[in-house]
Amino acid sequence: MMLNIGCAYPNSLHEKDGSVLFLIRGEREKRLVVIGDGSEVFRELEGTVSSNEGLRMKICDLSVANSHVIRKHFPHTRPVSLRKFKTTVGLGDRLGVASPGHIELMKGYDVGPVLAQQSIRELTLTGRTFEDVLSDVVWAVFQEGYSGGFGADGDHLKSMEEVKLALDTGYTMITLDCSEHINNITGLSKDDVDRMYIEIDKGTRERLERRFLSGEFKLESGLKLMFSPEALRLNAVIYQKAIDFAIDVFCEMIKPCPRELDFEMSIDETPTPTDPLAHFFVSLQLREAGVDLYSVAPRFCGEFQKGIDYIGNLGQFRRELKAHQGIASHFGYRLSVHSGSDKFSVFPSIGEETKGHVHVKTAGTNWLEAVRVIIHRDPGLYRELHMFALEHLTEARRYYHVTLDISRIPDMLTLRDDELDGLMNQDDARQLIHITYGLILQEKDESGAYRFRDRIYRCLYENETLYSEFLRKHIGNHLKALGLEGR
Ligand SMILES: [Zn+2]
Repeated sequence: MMLNIGCAYPNSLHEKDGSVLFLIRGEREKRLVVIGDGSEVFRELEGTVSSNEGLRMKICDLSVANSHVIRKHFPHTRPVSLRKFKTTVGLGDRLGVASPGHIELMKGYDVGPVLAQQSIRELTLTGRTFEDVLSDVVWAVFQEGYSGGFGADGDHLKSMEEVKLALDTGYTMITLDCSEHINNITGLSKDDVDRMYIEIDKGTRERLERRFLSGEFKLESGLKLMFSPEALRLNAVIYQKAIDFAIDVFCEMIKPCPRELDFEMSIDETPTPTDPLAHFFVSLQLREAGVDLYSVAPRFCGEFQKGIDYIGNLGQFRRELKAHQGIASHFGYRLSVHSGSDKFSVFPSIGEETKGHVHVKTAGTNWLEAVRVIIHRDPGLYRELHMFALEHLTEARRYYHVTLDISRIPDMLTLRDDELDGLMNQDDARQLIHITYGLILQEKDESGAYRFRDRIYRCLYENETLYSEFLRKHIGNHLKALGLEGR
């Protein structure tokens, strides 16, 4: 194979035990080149060996197996706990090509990036695995020569098995989604609550009553929390199973893990906002059971819909955020804000109230910026995606709750190519493309070939620099709105 060194990624140059490694950009895919066969890393990587003027060289695919070899020999390519960072940001990347842009941005900030972050739902919808997601990130970190540290989040894990899978794959953050253990019934009568409370075992009830009914809790923030017997019973009925589940997961899976882990408890996927009293009820018990929390994700008031700004009362949001922050500071963890993509109107209060000690997750917005690249460079493909999304909207709505109204989406047929970009600034069109990503990526034609997937990847590969530029600008705007300053 002819090697065109001009296509090498300059930051990807690494050296180990006499071998030199770097990534090159081929016409269709990137490859790893290793020169000098004296090292263990040369021997362990899978690839094609050739000799040139006495130099032995190996050309390798950016495979999952090879990413393990890279992780073994280059510690900065392994995910780590991000506790040392005050601010951390989740950057879910559904396609596995956004990390170079994210890293370029993060080089300018003192912010811990979670570069690998996918939920089981996202893995199913994109046809990827935890291994694939992490491997793509490892190669991006290698390409960019990034040694600032990054996390890998098994997001919204709902069972012991899912947690185990993420941990076995090397993930360093576990976001435990307790929604299936939260009793989400609203409008219960007092009698219903009393009846359900009695079903909780007697020992637990006595412990809860001793702990929560013996007086007021005063937090350093000035927040005072007082449980009436009714409030205690209600919170126990709603949350006790979720608390017990989180304690079990922590004791069985998180604590015994030899790596340092960032453990998040998410109670955000509920129909009603988390009452600060409920937040405290959950966290006090976790703390007293020895659970070391990195972050807690409450469900905030208003709506955090995918890919668009916050919908709700900003004043009320700030008041409730302040109360939740008081609880988070009391226990020493950070609040985690889910569905943080594009929530520009609440970022200033989040930045101020948490003083930057916060975790904000984004995901869908990175996909939407990829679609923006397609609009700019292959408008014909975008038009096909748009039509397909409109045709499959009903199906997509099963996975995501959004208020999108198609009648507000401008008729694409009346738009010129240079006007299509405006669709990515229109809430309904954003949500249309946001929630249909899984269907778009998985759609196959009669011959069994992907209808859009390969063309999407090709367009993004050919326009890697433009995608990176869009991400730096757009995610950079998120960081600025949170009040973060670049280095
Ligand atoms: Zn969430």
